[in-house]
Amino acid sequence: MNLILLGPPGAGKGTQAKRLESRYGLVQLSTGDMLRALVTKGDTLSQEAKSIMDSGKLMPDALMVRMISDRIDEPDCAGGFILDGFPRTVPQAQALDDMLDLKKLKLHAVIEMKVEDDALVERIVGRFTCAKCGEGYHDRFKRTAVDGVCDVCGHTEFKRRADDTETTVRTRLENYHKQTAPILPYYEQHGTLRQVNGMAAIEEVTQQIEAILHPA
Ligand code: AMP
Repeated sequence: MNLILLGPPGAGKGTQAKRLESRYGLVQLSTGDMLRALVTKGDTLSQEAKSIMDSGKLMPDALMVRMISDRIDEPDCAGGFILDGFPRTVPQAQALDDMLDLKKLKLHAVIEMKVEDDALVERIVGRFTCAKCGEGYHDRFKRTAVDGVCDVCGHTEFKRRADDTETTVRTRLENYHKQTAPILPYYEQHGTLRQVNGMAAIEEVTQQIEAILHPA
């Protein structure tokens, strides 16, 4: 099963992708995570990439298409994958269709997670993760049980994304509406688009997605 999770930054794509990963044996392909792993290198190219990401702008289509195409060819993707953060522009969506045709792969569903903009800013600005196991938390909505200690692994260091500031979030949301939302009619025409209410609780959203994947 190959899926796309679409939605603005902070909609919960990563959270849901991780849950689907373990329930269905799929691989989460997050272009944001791949880029963040790449830019730790610190050379000139990665510094440029980091400054694009920190400003909330998008990376060039050709680079992202190549990155995803190479990743899908890796053996762990043979059992199915969840695209999280890709495609993000209409040219990326078109390139993905061509790429999947060539690889003889099918998209089973494109799931849009709908969340209001005001809720997104609050969600993003307050989020942080454990520096060791990656468990996600939030200043207001999901605090650690013991202050400063990860509930899952007991680690005491946490990370915040450099682009999770209020100003950058506004740019990222603007980009979403201008560049990414036009993908929605593209998938609507292809008949693969489904929607879930991303404002609901995490488990409820998972259930909505599961109902799409396995209709009664
Ligand atoms: P994300 O973790 O999905 O919010 O992505 C973080 C940043 O990585 C974005 O703001 C972009 O700068 C870059 N990025 C991730 N995925 C893409 C993509 N498909 N196309 C262009 N830029 C991307």
